[in-house]
Amino acid sequence: MDAYEKEVKELAGLCALCDGKCCLGSKLSVSSKELSRLSKKHKFESAVLSSKEGSLNVILFEDGKCPFLGEKNGLVRCILSGKDRPLSCRLFPLTFRYEESKLEFYPSSYCPYQKEANELSEWASRTMDTATEELEEWTEGEKKFRSEYHERIHKKKGKLR
Ligand code: SF4
Ligand code: SF4
Repeated sequence: MDAYEKEVKELAGLCALCDGKCCLGSKLSVSSKELSRLSKKHKFESAVLSSKEGSLNVILFEDGKCPFLGEKNGLVRCILSGKDRPLSCRLFPLTFRYEESKLEFYPSSYCPYQKEANELSEWASRTMDTATEELEEWTEGEKKFRSEYHERIHKKKGKLR
């Protein structure tokens, strides 16, 4: 097992302790490409949020839970796998924003184990590289709106990576 795989396992251990807090709430932001990919295979409610900066699609949760929460091996888990899982979920507990068009990643204060997760440097480095590539598919309006929106929800805390 290499350092990256070891850290993926460590993060899974933290998530097992928390029981998926990041899959609860009211909505999940996705790019238009992610929404269209997911709509081909699944049924769910979505909406478009907009401001003068831009707009972004969100998947609406029912009863405070993401519609993709299901059962896997007797445990409550995300039923999506690989790239079907939205980028925001694969990146979490890191999140991102654009500061004057510059992409920045930072640990979300929403995750109860953000301090421990912030020490998983191999995992973070590979995950941020993938996210940087995938974010090239996002429109300028989506990037701006999401940065504004997440700034409000996940208050910036700790050191930026
Ligand atoms: S909130 Fe943090 S620890 Fe909990 S499931 Fe999400 S990433 Fe894992
Ligand atoms: S898509 Fe999966 S990982 Fe993302 S919030 Fe929903 S259940 Fe959680």
